[in-house]
Amino acid sequence: MSNIYETLFTPLKIGPVTAPNRFYQVPHCTGMGHLRPKADAATRAIKAEGGWGVVSTQETEIHPSSDLTPYPEQRIWDERDIPALRLVTESVHEHGSLAAIELAHNGNHSINQLTRAPILGVNEMSADILSPRQARQMDKTDIKNLRYWHRLAARRAKEAGFDIVYAYAGHHMTLAHQFLLPNVNDRMDEYGGKLENRVRLIRELIEETKEEVGDQCAVAFRFAVDEVKGVDGMQAQEEGRAVVEMLAELPDLWDVNVSDWSNDSVTSRFEPNEGYQTSYIDFVKSVTSKPVVAVGRFTSPDHMAALVKKGVVDFIGAARPSIADPFLPMKIKEGRTEDIRECIGCNICVACDNLAIPIRCTQNPTMGEEWRRGWHPEKIQRKGDEETALVVGSGPAGLECAMQLERRGYKVTLAEANKEYGGRALSESKLKGLNAWRRVADYRVRYLQQTANVDLFLESKLSAENVIDLGIKNIFLATGSKWRSDGVGRSNRKIQSSQPANNVFTPDDIMAGTIPKTGPLVIYDDDQIYLGGVLAEHLSDSGLEIVFVTPSNNVSPWCENTLEQHRIQKSLINKNINLKFGYIINEILENTIQFECSFTGKKLIVPAQSVLLVTERSREISLYNDLVKLVSEKNSHDLFLKLVGDAASPGLIADAVFDGHLAARNFERDNGSVEKEFYIREIISLE
Ligand code: ADP
Ligand code: SF4
Repeated sequence: MSNIYETLFTPLKIGPVTAPNRFYQVPHCTGMGHLRPKADAATRAIKAEGGWGVVSTQETEIHPSSDLTPYPEQRIWDERDIPALRLVTESVHEHGSLAAIELAHNGNHSINQLTRAPILGVNEMSADILSPRQARQMDKTDIKNLRYWHRLAARRAKEAGFDIVYAYAGHHMTLAHQFLLPNVNDRMDEYGGKLENRVRLIRELIEETKEEVGDQCAVAFRFAVDEVKGVDGMQAQEEGRAVVEMLAELPDLWDVNVSDWSNDSVTSRFEPNEGYQTSYIDFVKSVTSKPVVAVGRFTSPDHMAALVKKGVVDFIGAARPSIADPFLPMKIKEGRTEDIRECIGCNICVACDNLAIPIRCTQNPTMGEEWRRGWHPEKIQRKGDEETALVVGSGPAGLECAMQLERRGYKVTLAEANKEYGGRALSESKLKGLNAWRRVADYRVRYLQQTANVDLFLESKLSAENVIDLGIKNIFLATGSKWRSDGVGRSNRKIQSSQPANNVFTPDDIMAGTIPKTGPLVIYDDDQIYLGGVLAEHLSDSGLEIVFVTPSNNVSPWCENTLEQHRIQKSLINKNINLKFGYIINEILENTIQFECSFTGKKLIVPAQSVLLVTERSREISLYNDLVKLVSEKNSHDLFLKLVGDAASPGLIADAVFDGHLAARNFERDNGSVEKEFYIREIISLE
């Protein structure tokens, strides 16, 4: 290990326990939680194996009145939840790491859809999630109960084997936080009003947790020091600091961040810099003698070492960087820092939680697949009897497929038609805000270029004859997809067009560097995922008048899942882009585009000299079709031919990487077994 990183590997005491190093996986959701306990434990175990000295659960509901259904977070409602949680602690301990649990009562953020319990709030207030049911203001008995539930949960956490037990006041999502916030808490009793009163609940929770488990476990306090709302919210240098001063020595560890979740887990599109929270939290260590952990999408070992050396933090906190690379600490320790698979800040992992599905990651296709598919981020089974493989296309799918085939021991040939490797990972990264996405290509290209067992060819557009002539039996076609130019999409499958073709643009044109010359430019977004909004932002500097039309009710609605939608819409409004919602494209005429209202059918004519259509993609499968034909003509049926990534099914970059990985791992598998073809199902016992 290089000396400069030694600080990161020095053990540190946290209350009665000792962390083996300074890498701290802070609580993050997995979309598996109480519904898929074995899968969840396996994901946490991989983090510990990869060297994270502390591995935390996701938020853990302490009581049925904090029921987050349908989101599968963690649960510790009663003793029966202990065995599932013990799976986590035992597997984390096996690797010498500490296990932490984030206890939470989510107040009006949990709408109790499963339990139908009354929703508890700091005040009489609406629920945080759109629901007809409101929260009632907690009375003294409710507060007493809450404290008792928290105490019981802490007791169970200790029994389950956790080393660190959290009290959690962050993300606007817990009662403890809402009691603290001046713009939320409007109580008139001793729990409301001045800060001393608003702090009362969290002080009680920390004290009582210490009483309950303090002999054996450390008690951590997760606190958002700033709401990133300026004077309209809690600020780090005002009340945020005052809270830390009041409770300075009470917890055994301070886990500090900013709120809400969209600020804490901001995407690289809106916050490109690593360490973006440091200026908010850097005062904390000067106020407390207790260890401090903070996050900031850290992936640079130098940056991490500097933060610890300078005494800004004691632990490097990470959720996303630990998802993208569970072996980040190990790689630093072994001096393999270039092998770190850096998080790109895309928030697909976050989206999974918002969609209540098991976690997945753009950079790390094994994330969430540790138990059900037995995948390991660093290990892969050796190849079977075959020796060689050809991958056509170097987008995310082709690169990942080639990389994993090589790791399995195949001699790999990779052919790419373009002048550069990377496919859409590279082309999308050239758009405004998406620069970090090129890491998807860079990480894999670097690996492939360093290995002797791979032949790489640029500017090599292969025909079916070329492929056959290569004489390689196992062929993976990762030829991608192209955006349609006819306007056909989810809202209308028949469009009339008489616009000269040179005024009609697709995302592929813009990504290739073309900028429409004449405005007004209409951007029609029927994709409604992220790209339409990105392109509008990208073209907003062109000086063209832009009209953004979408059948949706807002810009990039899918990006609610990545916590970006409000930022995207704000940005387009600030750029004076004319936004029109609820309109479906009907006819593309010369100089105008005709839309109709998706509710009334009323026509809308928008003058346009150029139109950019973001609707659907067509798979690039001409090579595949030619090959199928040629194979049948030549009777060479021993060829293994597989479409991979967007060429198999257009989706996110995360889907393409996953599919490339799956193809490389699985292609010799036996057909016919559902479990082999897909994954092991975690079936709840009927006992
Ligand atoms: P995915 O997301 O599935 O990886 P991409 O669209 O990002 O797909 O990448 C597909 C890549 O395949 C592109 O870089 C494209 O240039 C390349 N490609 C397509 N057809 C051929 C071909 N016949 N020969 C070589 N490369 C090809
Ligand atoms: Fe980072 Fe994206 Fe992976 Fe999340 S999904 S860990 S943001 S690369």
